[in-house]
Amino acid sequence: MIACPCEVCSSRDKKDNRLRSSILVQSATTTLVVDTTPDFRYQMLRANVRKLDAVIFTHPHKDHLAGMDDVRAYNFFLKKPMDVYANEMTQESIVREFPYAFADMKYPGIPEIRLNRIDKEPFMVGDIPITPIQVWHLRMPVLGFRFGKFTYITDANRIDEEEKEKIRGSEIIVLNTLRREKHISHYSLPEAIDEVRDLGVPRAYFTHISHQLGLHAVVNPELPPGIELAYDGLLLKI
Ligand SMILES: [Zn+2]
Ligand SMILES: [Zn+2]
Repeated sequence: MIACPCEVCSSRDKKDNRLRSSILVQSATTTLVVDTTPDFRYQMLRANVRKLDAVIFTHPHKDHLAGMDDVRAYNFFLKKPMDVYANEMTQESIVREFPYAFADMKYPGIPEIRLNRIDKEPFMVGDIPITPIQVWHLRMPVLGFRFGKFTYITDANRIDEEEKEKIRGSEIIVLNTLRREKHISHYSLPEAIDEVRDLGVPRAYFTHISHQLGLHAVVNPELPPGIELAYDGLLLKI
């Protein structure tokens, strides 16, 4: 966190140095990201992502959306609009927050976006099958996504039983965990551990971690078997 003198924010352990939450999903032929955070540009530079086929959005909060303008680099090199998948609520925010990208008279060099509407129905991006899972971020419906045996859920603190059924059978889940103490719109550490157990997913990685959670080297060894803290650059093969 900017200007914070705490032990996590001043830690030299790379696993304590986090940018905002996002994942890159890659198959043999298709590459997509979930969310374009304010750090999207640096995240793509850091991971040397040369080709990006699509962006899928979970919800319109700024820490998940603000970096979308930088897809224009992919427009330029891939010579096509970026396919963006979002539900109605998120699409309204995209159009409101990046109005110049949807203007009738477009200034040269602005991002070219092709909006694709999603809701709760499964869809494909290239050869990647995706099942949306609706979860609750206080009162905001947020989309999690299941890709085969892998499920990604950020920004939630409650999941309805019928949506949990869509997650069960996953081999790996990534779930948000903000801190140890309870929070109004994110899972706390004890809540996230309980949720992983209830879902019966054997491997879990916690993401969207606040500096309030504590040092990676202290918290990670305390976690039950099969559960770990995620960190920037973590690579999982499924
Ligand atoms: Zn949020
Ligand atoms: Zn967030």
